Amino acid sequence: MLDRILYWALTGTWGRFTFNPGPPQSHEANLLPDEVGVYVHIPFCRTLCSFCPYTKILYSHRTANSYLDCLESEAKGLISRLSGSKVSSLYFGGGTPLTLPEAIESVIELMSPYMVLGAGIGVEVHPNDVSTQAVQWLRQAGVTMVSLGIESFDDDVLRILGRGYDSKAAHAAIETVMDAGFHTVNVDLMTCIPGQALEQTVADFEELLRYNVGQVSAYPLMDFSFTWPASTYSCKDQLRVLSALSAAGHVWGYDRSSVWTWTRPTVTKYTSITRRCFAGLGAGAATYVDGYFGINTFDVSAYINSILQGRPPVALHSFLTPQESALYWLFWRCYEGEIDVTAPEVQRIKAFPWLARFSRMFGLIEGFSLGDTRKSSVRLTERGLHLYHFLERYYTRRYIGRLWQVCRDSAFPVRMTL
Ligand code: SF4
Repeated sequence: MLDRILYWALTGTWGRFTFNPGPPQSHEANLLPDEVGVYVHIPFCRTLCSFCPYTKILYSHRTANSYLDCLESEAKGLISRLSGSKVSSLYFGGGTPLTLPEAIESVIELMSPYMVLGAGIGVEVHPNDVSTQAVQWLRQAGVTMVSLGIESFDDDVLRILGRGYDSKAAHAAIETVMDAGFHTVNVDLMTCIPGQALEQTVADFEELLRYNVGQVSAYPLMDFSFTWPASTYSCKDQLRVLSALSAAGHVWGYDRSSVWTWTRPTVTKYTSITRRCFAGLGAGAATYVDGYFGINTFDVSAYINSILQGRPPVALHSFLTPQESALYWLFWRCYEGEIDVTAPEVQRIKAFPWLARFSRMFGLIEGFSLGDTRKSSVRLTERGLHLYHFLERYYTRRYIGRLWQVCRDSAFPVRMTL
């Protein structure tokens, strides 16, 4: 109830999101802003990890070939709607993008003429796909950032997660990727796994800092009804993990670039989810543009059939009010730990000064002073980021988990309200 009251105070609505089936009738969703980030989902994996909530299926050569054709077709459709707007970033995630390198190559080629000069191209990489040839190929294809899903250096934890490699292979993968000369190397770790000791989590984290990787993302195990194992960490234990990582990051000179990421100063952040506007291509990919929120079908076969039949693969869509879009923007700025108070979204949240004053009183933000026009941004303090950690987890369970469950159960769900 408290969340609804807060939502109402910030947006004037009660925080009930209705998603309508299929793409919208209106053309509003076709209007793209000056710059848009593009995310490409490649859902194929060699093995499926039980903890993973993302859209994925086991690799099959035939399905992957059909998927490639459809992805190209969807990318051309997006290009036809760009009309003057530019692509500010291009990320490939999954799934395991390197199961379909042709898709990476083809989409980069299609998007290149529309990309902002110097825009980063990022690819998620599974350690089992890393080889000197593979990373050289990525470099030649124009990829500037990679995100390597190591998850842990503890062989027992890797076994629980079913990752299909051991700590020795994980180390070898990091060394190969680091030697390749990418602008940014992000490495993903997982925390709060049942049985994982705090000391081991910190040791994994420091091991990566010792490698001098550009960024470490230490994600807590996500709690969904359709993933396994469930998290057994208490709030107190989660806080201990965050505090320990925060202290280690500080000692090693890394900046806290979001609630769960630490980035070396001067390194470009690897971040596909925090863009102001993004267009998603592929099964399960989402698009968010100026309040329009659309989700492609999670079902890979249904995605292929839709494209082959000339229909948009959109399973559900929703339109946020201007105040709700502003709150959505604020949510992701809090995730990043910094809020530009001169942004137009802040003006749209009438209760922002009240919220900021309250947050400062409780030590959640620093650098905010009402009426002080010299300050253009405020930062979340460590306490603020830790509180945000719980807010994010609540939001993930309350909204994302339910939405994804519905999209997993049906390729094209009926109207739903969260
Ligand atoms: S964690 Fe990676 S490899 Fe495992 S199922 Fe998910 S996308 Fe595939």
